Amino acid sequence: MRQIAIYGKGGIGKSTVVQNLSAALAADQGARVMVVGCDPKSDSTRLLLGGLMQTTVLDQLRETDAQMVELEDVVQQGFAGVQCVESGGPEPGVGCAGRGIITAINLLEDKDVFEDDLDYVMYDVLGDVVCGGFAMPIREGKAQEIYLVTSGEYMSLYAANNICKGIARYAKRGGTRVGGVICNSRNVEGEEELVREFAKRVGTQVVHVIPRDPMVQKAEINRRTVIEYAPDSAQAQEYRVLARAVAQNQQLVIPEPLSASELEQLMLDYMP
Ligand code: ADP
Ligand code: MG
Repeated sequence: MRQIAIYGKGGIGKSTVVQNLSAALAADQGARVMVVGCDPKSDSTRLLLGGLMQTTVLDQLRETDAQMVELEDVVQQGFAGVQCVESGGPEPGVGCAGRGIITAINLLEDKDVFEDDLDYVMYDVLGDVVCGGFAMPIREGKAQEIYLVTSGEYMSLYAANNICKGIARYAKRGGTRVGGVICNSRNVEGEEELVREFAKRVGTQVVHVIPRDPMVQKAEINRRTVIEYAPDSAQAQEYRVLARAVAQNQQLVIPEPLSASELEQLMLDYMP
C-alpha cells in the first residue's frame, strides 16, 4: 500500500487533482483507493460521491463516542469503488482546523482501515500552513510520498516551498519523501518553465503539467470527476497520464527548500 499526500495552497486544485487521479487509478488501473480529505473545507470527495457532502469524522464524533463509531458512518463508496473519508473541521471560530486530521487518521488506524486491501491512500491536505494537524501526515510518517500541487503564481510556489521545509525537517527521522511537483496550470506566462525550474531547484521533478480546461468546471457543476463525466475528453487523458506517472514514480527525495530570497529571485528571473 502506498500512502500519498497531495499538498498545496488553498484553491490551487488539490481536490480536483486528488479525485481525478484516484478515479483514474481505480477505473483504469483497477487500483483500490481510499481518499482522506484533510482540509476543513471538507470537499475532497464530493465529485467522487456525485455531489454528496458526506458526514465528516469530526461531525460523527460530535454525535457518537469514538468507540461507538462504525466505519460505515465515516467511509462512503464513491466512483469506481474509491473509498471516501472527510476528516472535517471545527465550527468557525472554535478550535484548531488541523485537529480533525489527527482525529480522523487516529480513528482510521484504530479501526484497522489501513490493514485492508488498499493499493493507495490519498491524503488531500491544505498546505497554506504546515503546522499541527496539517503536518501530521509528514511529521508522523503517515504518508511516505508527497506531491506538491502548484501553478506558476508566487503564492502557490511559496506554499510548495514551505511544505518542502516541513518535509525536510522531518525527513531524516521519518521516511517521508517528495515524489514530485504537479503543475496545475493557471496559464500565467512562462509558467511551465518556472515550475520546472522550481522543481529542479528543490531537488525533485515535475510529474505532470495539467492544462487549465473549462471541462473541469463543467464536470464539477455536474458533480463528477472529469474521468467519470467526460472519459473521452482531452482533460481526462491528462489525468490518466498523471495517474500513470504517479503509479510508476520511483524518484523519492528529501527536498532542499529555497530561502525566501532565492524564491523571489527565481520569480524575478522568470518574470515576463
Ligand atoms: P483546492 O482543493 O486546492 O482548494 P480545488 O480542487 O477545489 O482546489 O480547485 C479550485 C477550483 O479550481 C475549482 O473550482 C476547480 O474547478 C478549479 N480547477 C482546478 N483545476 C483546474 C484545471 N486544471 N482547469 C480548470 N479549472 C480547474
Ligand atoms: Mg480542496
